[in-house]
Amino acid sequence: MTGRGWANCVEQAPSDGPVIRKSGRYKNPTDDPEFASKALVICNAAVERLRGRIARDWPKRSHKPDAEGRTVHPLLNRDLSKERHCLHCETVSSGAQMAAPMWHCPKCNATPLDIFATPFWRGAV
Ligand SMILES: [Zn+2]
Repeated sequence: MTGRGWANCVEQAPSDGPVIRKSGRYKNPTDDPEFASKALVICNAAVERLRGRIARDWPKRSHKPDAEGRTVHPLLNRDLSKERHCLHCETVSSGAQMAAPMWHCPKCNATPLDIFATPFWRGAV
């Protein structure tokens, strides 16, 4: 959501909080707590709709682990795995842990493109 000299940004990752950007050149309505609160409600509703559309485009198995706890990666090679490894912080997560934040790393918030079934960067495992 934007206006002259300000923007409310809510990112795709559910763990990301909203960011309010201001230019400082204009009188800013986001300085009014009531305006900022109402704008945030509108932004959050919009981002929830967006997250729903994204989830509908992804395979069901990417957010619903099978009986063995395995999920498929929603964007990359759609490999089936019980574990996911973050390229950035090397956190190992289960499929359910990855599904909740829409495949962003639960620890460092890395994007789904940096989440893999195996830690190939460590060499042969
Ligand atoms: Zn991470």
